[in-house]
Amino acid sequence: MHTGSYVNGTWYHPASPEVLRNVNPADTSDVIAEFPLATAADVTRAIEAATAAWAGWRKTPAPERGRVLWRAADIARRRVDEIARTLTREEGKVLKEARGEVLKGIAVLEFYAGEGFRMHGKTLPAESHDTFTYTLRQPLGVVGLISPWNFPWAIPVWKSAPAIVAGNCVVFKPSELVPATAALLAEVYEEAGMPPGVFNMVVGSGPEVGEAMVHAPELRAISFTGSNRVGQELYVKAARRGAKVTCEMGGKNAVIVMPDADLDKAATAIHGGAFGSTGQRCTATSRVIAHPDVRQALVDRLVASARQIKVGPGLDETMEMGPSISDRQWSTVMGYIDAGRQAGARLLTGGTRPEHLAQGHFIEPTIFDGVDPDMRIFKEEIFGPVLSVASASSLDEALRMANGVEYGLTTSIFTQDINAVMRFIEDVEVGMVHVNEPTVGGEAQLPFGGTKSTGVGEREMAEEGLHFFTELKTVFINYSGKAERSLTR
Ligand code: NAD
Repeated sequence: MHTGSYVNGTWYHPASPEVLRNVNPADTSDVIAEFPLATAADVTRAIEAATAAWAGWRKTPAPERGRVLWRAADIARRRVDEIARTLTREEGKVLKEARGEVLKGIAVLEFYAGEGFRMHGKTLPAESHDTFTYTLRQPLGVVGLISPWNFPWAIPVWKSAPAIVAGNCVVFKPSELVPATAALLAEVYEEAGMPPGVFNMVVGSGPEVGEAMVHAPELRAISFTGSNRVGQELYVKAARRGAKVTCEMGGKNAVIVMPDADLDKAATAIHGGAFGSTGQRCTATSRVIAHPDVRQALVDRLVASARQIKVGPGLDETMEMGPSISDRQWSTVMGYIDAGRQAGARLLTGGTRPEHLAQGHFIEPTIFDGVDPDMRIFKEEIFGPVLSVASASSLDEALRMANGVEYGLTTSIFTQDINAVMRFIEDVEVGMVHVNEPTVGGEAQLPFGGTKSTGVGEREMAEEGLHFFTELKTVFINYSGKAERSLTR
């Protein structure tokens, strides 16, 4: 396993006295590796390498750039198991989920490989005679990518693949909590024949390496995914120096359950959305807003299935839910559970660490009922296996509650009523809407991201993800053969 940074096609250990201990959250005595922490000097080194490589990469035909991603997809497919096991060992999600994440990243690589053949602009009619007008998309130059820990493979892929196929060179900083999976992505790109300097990875802390990236004038864009605490500051700093910025941040996603809903389907979807990946997804289901006629029957189903979840180390194939990522995250989640209790919500199940799992950051699947819209557990992102159930007697009231939070990532509704579905789609304030399915999920070809405090800047994945990493150029070609004085333009 590589345990350093990767710059200009070379692995090396930054000359830093500080070391990052990469620990298995399911068993803190299992140290996966130690990574020497990079510094601002390593960011400069990576930018220099990327700048030098850009001259050649921007001139490489886009289909050819796409082929490197295609080879990376093939290599990753061959290495699925190895990548998934590393991911589970350092992030904690169970193996089945880790495999799913790796496969999703592969689909994203395949999608953007194909985009190399479709790097198109538009031709448009000109107002003037004998003039040909069109647009074309060109790369920005060197761009910075900063990613969180909860999707250590998929998010670095969905940021780097569009950047690279568009003809940019990349400086990438993974989360300090998951450098080993990030190193495997760098290995895959290296094996795929990525020219040195096109993809550079600097493993370091947010305040040191992240800040250096945000302030580096050479980085023409910053693509960030992470918390609102970091992202909102980062947005201002990077925008102030004129960089293009996209920030995808927190979520507080709800499922609305109407009186005519299929309760078995709703319960299954809510269960997966709330407790899958230990609730550590930006799209996790954190709130249920149920009609009083069905709330009790739904809650009974949810509590019964939550109690059956097998919690334990994700490397054990029989387990269904892994730990929180860190001691700090564990304490945050437990803090919210206390806040829910103190605010008067009814704790129906969970709320503690399973006794037999003291070696990791485990929390039982937890459900609160009788939650009010002004409680913190209803409004704030928890990022753990905690579900809050509230009641609403009409679609209007449910929408008010769903929309009454600062975030706007995803919301789902369960109903058979087409009128309710259409009203919901129109009035819910989120970037992604689901009908009769969980709040989670995304696909390579579909734009991903949120509104309000969740997201600023362009959506990720899909064609929109590619657009973020390009500059649009508008071209006017006059073939009249006459001198023009441009009076109308
Ligand atoms: P975080 O904000 O703590 O860290 C994210 C990244 O920013 C890390 O690489 C970190 O090192 C870096 N960073 C920290 N301080 C920095 C600074 N001052 N300057 C530059 N970079 C800095 O977030 P996290 O805990 O890793 O991730 C969890 C959060 O990510 C949750 O809020 C979750 O909702 C969000 N998330 C959002 C999406 C989405 O698409 N909306 C997807 C996944 C995760």
